[in-house]
Amino acid sequence: MSDGVRPGSDWIVEPPPTPTLPIVGEEGRFPVVRIWCVGRNYEAHAREMQSASDRRSKVGAPFFFLKPASALAPGGGPVPYPDDTGLLHHEVELVVALGMRGRKLSESEAGSLVYGYGVGLDLTRRDRQTEAKARGRPWSLAKGFDRSAPCSALMPESRVGPLRRGRITAAVNGEIRQDADLSEMIWSVPRTIALLSRQVEVLPGDLLFTGTPAGVGPVEVGDVVTAEVAGVGRLEVSVEPRDGG
Ligand code: MN
Repeated sequence: MSDGVRPGSDWIVEPPPTPTLPIVGEEGRFPVVRIWCVGRNYEAHAREMQSASDRRSKVGAPFFFLKPASALAPGGGPVPYPDDTGLLHHEVELVVALGMRGRKLSESEAGSLVYGYGVGLDLTRRDRQTEAKARGRPWSLAKGFDRSAPCSALMPESRVGPLRRGRITAAVNGEIRQDADLSEMIWSVPRTIALLSRQVEVLPGDLLFTGTPAGVGPVEVGDVVTAEVAGVGRLEVSVEPRDGG
């Protein structure tokens, strides 16, 4: 190999390892390439996020934003309270892992790309997001900070079948804050993948955080957030003091 990059010799900096998720009942791991998030997929949550003056307007189509793959916190665990916020929010979400690539997919084609499901938390610096919304600026740093995407081990679809309903909950220190059913999603999992595939080619290794139901709220240092999706699993995250001040 004269023109290839030899690992350990020609890199200018060491390439970071690919973030991965464990898989329930399997030895192998799922490599995470991108983390797509749906911005609006449960009507009650869409309404709780609207300003009072906007409350009676129609809930619009969902939209997408990204977190870097490096934001993944596999299996949850400790998450340092992020810098530059005083309002860290939990958002429990069904996570869909894609096992194949595709573009401009029909809904039925899109459904066949699903490898499995996880339980995720779309941790959000809500004060920074509110500011970004008001100024028409990107959400990137409100959403994509380090360890902002805790996700459980993946449950292969081959074990549970296509998930269309099931209880989804988040509790803070044992007290239920979010409690809904996957059937309340405005846009189904296949529909959401199909919509995304009109914008980009979706890839094996893509995760899709499918939006959060109502009941989002603040978490503080010392809190433990427990997220569950029936048939998928459970995720526990502890909010730790940030180190270094
Ligand atoms: Mn979200």
